[in-house]
Amino acid sequence: MKYLVGVQSRVFRLTRQLFAIAVLVSSACGPPLALGPIPVGIQTDVAFIASPQQEGRPPGSAGSRRVGDYLVKQYKALGLRGIFGAVCPERADCGDGFFQPFSAANARNARNVGTVILGSDASVVDEYVVVGAHYDHIGRSTFLSLDPEAGDVIRPGADDNASGTAAVLELARRLSAKPPRRSVILLNFDAEELGMFGSAEFFARPIAPKRAFRFMVNLDMVGRLGRGPLEIDRSTLMYDAPDLLAMLDSASRALTLPIKFTNSIEARSDHATFRLNDVSAIALFTGFHGDYHRSTDTVGRLDVRGIGLVTDLAEAVVRFEANRR
Ligand SMILES: [Zn+2]
Repeated sequence: MKYLVGVQSRVFRLTRQLFAIAVLVSSACGPPLALGPIPVGIQTDVAFIASPQQEGRPPGSAGSRRVGDYLVKQYKALGLRGIFGAVCPERADCGDGFFQPFSAANARNARNVGTVILGSDASVVDEYVVVGAHYDHIGRSTFLSLDPEAGDVIRPGADDNASGTAAVLELARRLSAKPPRRSVILLNFDAEELGMFGSAEFFARPIAPKRAFRFMVNLDMVGRLGRGPLEIDRSTLMYDAPDLLAMLDSASRALTLPIKFTNSIEARSDHATFRLNDVSAIALFTGFHGDYHRSTDTVGRLDVRGIGLVTDLAEAVVRFEANRR
């Protein structure tokens, strides 16, 4: 989730202790929503992506490249293929079409990762529902951190956004096992923290006409569900969508996952780029907390079962939009 430099960052600093108190109070009020076994795939993925070895994944870094390679390995193991082969610039390393390399502002040698699950209905196989999550974080930056006093320590970005990245991998496993009618594009954006450059790059060198992208679901910071609710930013929907909202309500009840519609993260993550490009989008988000953009956003503080529950809801949305008549 992109950090707002300026007035709002001062507000974050001022409310830091309030966040910490709120987290303590909420965790003292009852059990988390998601119980049962820890989802093994998600646990393995967040542990790798937010490992200190990856040093907070700033674009172009060794840690970022290790994570990008890891994502491709997972997709290949599912028999999926890359989507960027046709738009790969000459002499660039596009890794069998899984990478979309780019440089922007101070994000040099960045790479989006993308794959597709082909739809089961030949009449709509060229229409896409997009699921996206950024995989970069702020590395050791004191400028983008909210704990500059800690110096150049690693900000591992477990919630922001190893959580969403792991949810996308889990969706790849589930959707490839039973594809919906339309195709589903899975995107891992780079350089979100520096200004949502990865999603901008996706539209700068598009793999299909804009109208082929029917809907987008963004997963940015979904690792702190706890007692909920899950926030859903619907400010980036282009139309009244009563059927989608009704489906979300019924999925929320079926999963025992309380949801709250919000505009709180409007324009602060990659779904905003899709809306700017005339693609309806929603974002799922489990809320700000006292570890946001700090060295304490670690794997040990994630609600991994909660990521599984958020993934359940994301899967329901993707199937609803991808199977829509
Ligand atoms: Zn962030």
